[in-house]
Amino acid sequence: MKPQNSPPGIENAIRLSRDEHCISRKNISKNAVKVLYKLGEEGFNAYLVGGGVRDLLLGNQPKDFDIATDAEPEDIRRIFRNSRIIGRRFKIVHIRFGREIIEVTTFRAPHEALNEIADDAPRKRIKELDSAHSSSGMILRDNVYGNIDEDALRRDFTVNSLYYTVDNFEILDFSSGLNDIQSKQIRMIGDPEERYREDPVRMLRALRFSAKLKFEIEKETREPINRLAHLLESISSARLFDESMKLLTGGQAVDTFALLAEFDPGKYLFGPTIEAIEDAEAPASKLLQLALKNTDSRLAIGKSVTPAFLYAALLWPVLQKKINMQQSEEQNPGQIYSEAVSSCISEQLTFTSIPKRFTAASREIWDLQNRLERRNRRNVNSCFAHPRFRAAYDFLLLREESGENLGEAGQWWTDFQIGDTKQRDEMIEKLNSSNSRRKRRPRRKTNSDSH
Ligand code: ATP
Ligand code: MG
Repeated sequence: MKPQNSPPGIENAIRLSRDEHCISRKNISKNAVKVLYKLGEEGFNAYLVGGGVRDLLLGNQPKDFDIATDAEPEDIRRIFRNSRIIGRRFKIVHIRFGREIIEVTTFRAPHEALNEIADDAPRKRIKELDSAHSSSGMILRDNVYGNIDEDALRRDFTVNSLYYTVDNFEILDFSSGLNDIQSKQIRMIGDPEERYREDPVRMLRALRFSAKLKFEIEKETREPINRLAHLLESISSARLFDESMKLLTGGQAVDTFALLAEFDPGKYLFGPTIEAIEDAEAPASKLLQLALKNTDSRLAIGKSVTPAFLYAALLWPVLQKKINMQQSEEQNPGQIYSEAVSSCISEQLTFTSIPKRFTAASREIWDLQNRLERRNRRNVNSCFAHPRFRAAYDFLLLREESGENLGEAGQWWTDFQIGDTKQRDEMIEKLNSSNSRRKRRPRRKTNSDSH
C-alpha cells in the first residue's frame, strides 16, 4: 500500500471544513462511500464529485454518484473485482454493486498539456499520451492524467466541479462552484465558446442543468449557445439519443423542453417536433405538453417512464402534421397513416438514433389508438391483452385531455379495466349489439360491384 499524501494541486482550492457545509456521509450511497474508503486504504486520493456533491449541497437526492481519483484505470480495475474499464473517448471505470454503478474517473489534465508534455511529464505523472482534437477543436480522446486542480478545470460547469472527501469531510472548490450554487448560476469553466467547441453536448447540458436546478445560465455561458448550436451536427446520433433521454427523464421534462424549444440546440435533437408544435393550441401540441407533465409526475413518485412512450408523444405532432398534409389526396387512410409513421420515424432517426425496440413499441402505441377508439367485439380482448395496452390507454387519455373527441373511448376503457369478468362481458356484448346492426346488414349487390 502506498502512503497517502494530499494530491498535488490541492493548494489551489477553497476548502470548506466539515462544519461549514451540509453534506453528510449518510446521504451518500453506501457503495460510493465504500469505494472512497477502499481507494483511500490503497493509498490513493478519492473524491465524490459532480452531480453527487452539487445535488447534496442543494438538498436534492443525487441521481448517481461519481468519483474522481488519482488511481489510474488499471489500478482501480485491480482493486475492485466487480469493475470494468469502459469508453475510449474517456476511459472510465464502472464498479458494479447489484443494480448500482459507481463511475470512477482518473484526474485528467487539460488538453494543452499535450504541448507541454516534454517539460511536464514527470511532474504530472502522465503515463499515457492519449489526447486528440478534431480540426474544429472537438476533443476526440481525452486520457491524459493530471492533478486534481487540472481535473477540476476541465469539468464543464463550476457547480459540477466540487469535490468531497471522506478523509476529513472537506469540500474543495477550484472554480467559483460554491458561489454559483449560492447565486444559482450555471457558469462554464474557462472560455465558454472554446469549451462548447471541445464538446458541443455541453450546450445541451447547460440547458438541462438550468431546467433541472432552476438556475440561470450565466450571460457569457449563454451567449454562444444559439450561435454554436450547429456544432451538434457533428455529434453521433447515439450520443444525442442518450442525451435526449437524460434531458427528458431528469424530472423536469416540461421546463427542459421549453428551453429546447427556446434555444437553437433543441432543433438538433427534436427539429421536426419543434416545427410541428408551432401552434401551441393544437391538440397534438397539447398532448406533448401533457405527456411531459405526466412524465415529471410519474418520476416524482418513483414510477418509470419508457423511451417508447416519450418518443410516441414527441413524434405525435409530427405524425399528425404528415397525415393532415396527405389527407386531400386520394389515398386510403390506412396507407396514409402507415407511410406517415415510417416517414416520421426515419426523419427522427437522422437526429437521434432510437433503439429499434423503442421505435417498434412507439409504433404499437400509435397502432393501438385506432383499435382502442373503434372498440368492437372482435378486438377488445386482443387490445386488452396487448403488451402495450397500458401505454396505449394512457396515451388515449392524454389525447382526450388535449381536446380530441374520441367518443368517450377513454372512459369506456377505464370502466372495462375496473369491471369484473361479468361486467366486461356485458360491455363487450353491448358493443357488439350496437355494432352488429350496422355490420350485419346484408350487402345489396349494386351495379358497381360487378365492375
Ligand atoms: P447528473 O448525474 O445529475 O445528470 P452530473 O453533473 O453528475 O449530473 P454526469 O453526466 O453524471 O453529470 O457527469 C459527472 C461529472 O462529469 C459532471 O458533473 C462533470 O463534472 C463531468 N462531466 C460530464 N460530462 C462532461 C462534459 N461533457 N464536459 C466536461 N465535464 C463533464
Ligand atoms: Mg452524475
